[in-house]
Amino acid sequence: MTAQLINGKEISQQRLAKVAQAVEKRAADGLHTPCLAVILVGNDPASAVYVRNKKLACEKSGIKSLSYELPASTSQEELLGLVVELNENSKVDGILVQLPLPPHIDSQAILEHILPHKDVDGFHPYNVGRLAVKMPLMRPCTPKGVMTLLEAYGVDPKGKKAVIVGASNIVGRPQALELLLARATVTVCHSATQNLSEEVGAADILVVGVGIPNFVKGEWIKPGAVVIDVGINRLENGSLCGDVEFDAAKERAAMITPVPGGVGPMTIATLLENTLHAAELHD
Ligand code: NAP
Repeated sequence: MTAQLINGKEISQQRLAKVAQAVEKRAADGLHTPCLAVILVGNDPASAVYVRNKKLACEKSGIKSLSYELPASTSQEELLGLVVELNENSKVDGILVQLPLPPHIDSQAILEHILPHKDVDGFHPYNVGRLAVKMPLMRPCTPKGVMTLLEAYGVDPKGKKAVIVGASNIVGRPQALELLLARATVTVCHSATQNLSEEVGAADILVVGVGIPNFVKGEWIKPGAVVIDVGINRLENGSLCGDVEFDAAKERAAMITPVPGGVGPMTIATLLENTLHAAELHD
């Protein structure tokens, strides 16, 4: 069996087109143009690429973007000052602080200063808590993007066994909450998990976000599983690969996301959906 490819690029373009339509309709109705403020601190090349792609997607969908590119030497107080200023700016709907931040900055403290209704990344504990109690407001972009992909391909998690490998605040943990909300039976694996291959082998839906190239072996995967690879790893030859051994996994899975072109574009599309949602909350 060769798995069906889950085309995140195509689904993300459809979602961005819907955002663009909604932005146009807002203008026709005399409502303000949604505005996203993007803060980049330092010169991490991967972060610079992510920020550029986010700004390009804003342009394509008619969302205004404001860019703040700060030197790596920026202090915690300076960055907090900018966040507070953007919180108070009524023209700004969403605030995104690109992670990772330089090591001298306490990322969590910065994220907790973003007003929850402008927290378009969905990382504020208030938004994580709302997701946990089944009352989501701003949903973390990558896990929500994964749910959009599953829905687009007719995969209903209800009653399925979902296994997540990775338990970070931005991928694994909120993914577990999203899948629980969708009525899956959820297992979350991390670096202390025993018998990982057995856990993975039980998954009807497998989501992997670990950050280690080809970490999940194709032979671990249950035949017919849906495999979502969140990992983005740059190899020495410059190419990108995921956390799942793609060539072997596609021979066992029913559906699988490629890297690139799977989850990555969905994260950006969801960010813009969240920015539109933030603008609606401000109306
Ligand atoms: P992270 O913060 O480093 O978290 C990695 C997680 O993997 C942790 O929970 C860790 O467990 C777990 N882990 C590490 N080694 C393991 C092992 N041997 N067995 C089982 N679990 C293990 O990474 P992240 O920020 O979540 O990112 C993960 C990957 O997703 C990266 O490749 C990143 O580039 C990618 N990513 C992609 C997108 C996208 O839009 N597609 C968005 C975000 C991230 P512990 O909790 O025990 O430490």
